[in-house]
Amino acid sequence: MLLTFLGAAGTVTGSKTLVEVEQPVDAAGHRASAAPNRILVDCGMFQGPRDVRSRNWQTFPVDPTSLAGVILTHAHLDHCGYLPALVRDGFDGPVFCSPNTAELVPIILRDSARLQEEDTAWARKKGFSRHADPQPLYDINDAERAIALLRPVEFGTEFRPLDGLTARLDVGGHILGSSIVRLTEESRQRTVVFSGDLGRGNHPLLEPPAPPDHADAIVVESTYGNREHDDVDAEMDEMARAITRTLKRGGTVVIPAFAVDRTEVLLKALRTLQDQQRIPVAPIHVDSPMALAALRIYVRAIQDGDPEINSATAALGPDAIDLPNVHEATTPQDSMALDRGGARIIVSASGMGSGGRVTHHLKALLPDDDNTVLLVGFQAAGTPGRMLLDGAHEIKIHGQYVPVRAEIIEIEAFSVHADASELIDWMRSCRTKPAQVFVNHGEPDAADALAERIRREWDVAVHVPHEGERVRV
Ligand SMILES: [Zn+2]
Repeated sequence: MLLTFLGAAGTVTGSKTLVEVEQPVDAAGHRASAAPNRILVDCGMFQGPRDVRSRNWQTFPVDPTSLAGVILTHAHLDHCGYLPALVRDGFDGPVFCSPNTAELVPIILRDSARLQEEDTAWARKKGFSRHADPQPLYDINDAERAIALLRPVEFGTEFRPLDGLTARLDVGGHILGSSIVRLTEESRQRTVVFSGDLGRGNHPLLEPPAPPDHADAIVVESTYGNREHDDVDAEMDEMARAITRTLKRGGTVVIPAFAVDRTEVLLKALRTLQDQQRIPVAPIHVDSPMALAALRIYVRAIQDGDPEINSATAALGPDAIDLPNVHEATTPQDSMALDRGGARIIVSASGMGSGGRVTHHLKALLPDDDNTVLLVGFQAAGTPGRMLLDGAHEIKIHGQYVPVRAEIIEIEAFSVHADASELIDWMRSCRTKPAQVFVNHGEPDAADALAERIRREWDVAVHVPHEGERVRV
C-alpha cells in the first residue's frame, strides 16, 4: 500500500491522504488492471493564513476522476471542505463516512459554499481582489453534488472502497460521527489505521475512541503533540470565575467556538456550572446558523440513544445541551443586536475568530474592558484567536485595527483533541506493535515533538512526512 500525504503535513488543516493499492506491472511498467486503485482518506480544506489557504487553489495533484472513492474521518471543514472542489473537477465516486458524519457534512459544506460565494461577491463589489473577476473555490451546486455522493457506513462494519482493500470505521470520540479509519490491503494483509482527529476519552457527550486494535502502520494526528492538557476541574473553575466576574460587572462573554461539537460541549459545561450555581444564570446566545443546525443533530442523537452518546448524557436526555436560557440568533439582525454589550454570553463561530459572525462581535466588544473573550479551542498560527492568545494590543478585523481591552482567557478543558500522552496511550493500546508510525496533522514543532516521544518511549520507527511525500507500508 502506498500513502501520499497531500495535506495536513506541516500544518493542521487540509487533511488528505492518497491511498493506493499496489498492482502488478508488466515489463513496460504498465499496471495489469486499468481499474482504479486509489482512494482518498479525508478531503479537507486548507484554512488559516493566506499562504496556507492559497493551496486550495493549486491544481489537485491527482486526477480526481482516477479516484475510486473518498473516506471521511469526520465533518470538520479541514477534513471534508475540499470535497465540492474535487467534485467540480470530475470526481463522482462514493464518499464513505459514519451515519452521523453524513448528517453533519451537508451543514458544513453548504455553509462553506455560501461563505465563499458571499466573500467573492464582496471582493467583486469592493474591488479588493487581486483578480479582475474573482471566483469562489466552489459554489452551492458543487456542494450539493458532493452531498449526494455521501454513503453512510455503520461503525464496525467492513466495506470495500476499492477492489483489494477492506475498510472499517470505529468510534473516534472527537466529535459526533468522528471515525478512526482502518484499511487492510487484502493481498498482503497489511493494515493501516488512521487516527483521524482523535478524541480525549473524556468528551462530555461522547463515548471514548476505540483502540486501534491491530495495525502494521498508524497515521496519527499531532495537533497537541507537544502539549499536555491542564486539569479539567481547575480549568472549569477558572472559566466559572471569568464568567462570573464579567457578568457581575455587566460585561459580555464572547466565546468563539467551532460550530460543530464545541458549541454542544460548551452548552453542556454551562449547564453544569449553572446547576452547581458556580455562574449566574444569564442569557446564552448561540449565534451561528450552522451551530444551531448541528445542535439539532446532537439533540436527535441523544434522543435516539445513538451508540456514540455516552451513558451520562443519555441519562440526562436532550436537556443536557438544550438549556432554557439559550437564545437562538437566527437572523443577521439578531446577531447585530448582541453587539450592544451587557451581561450575556455569546457563543459564535468561527472558533479561531477568522470568519463568521464572531468577527463582528470581536470588533464591537474587544475595545471594552468590561468584556471577556474566552478562547476554548486550538488557535492556529496567523488567526485572530492566536493573536489574542499571544497578547496582541490590537488586531485587524475587516481591514480595521481594533484595540484589545477586553480580558482574554484561554480554557483548554474543551479540547476534543488528545494531548501527547493521550495519543501515545491510544497507540500503545494496539494489540501488536506497528512497524511504522506516521505523524501528521500538526504544526512542525508539535509533530516533531510527538515523533521524538514515540521514538523514545515506544521504540517504533516513526516519520513526519512532508507535503507530497509518498511512503510504502
Ligand atoms: Zn476535527
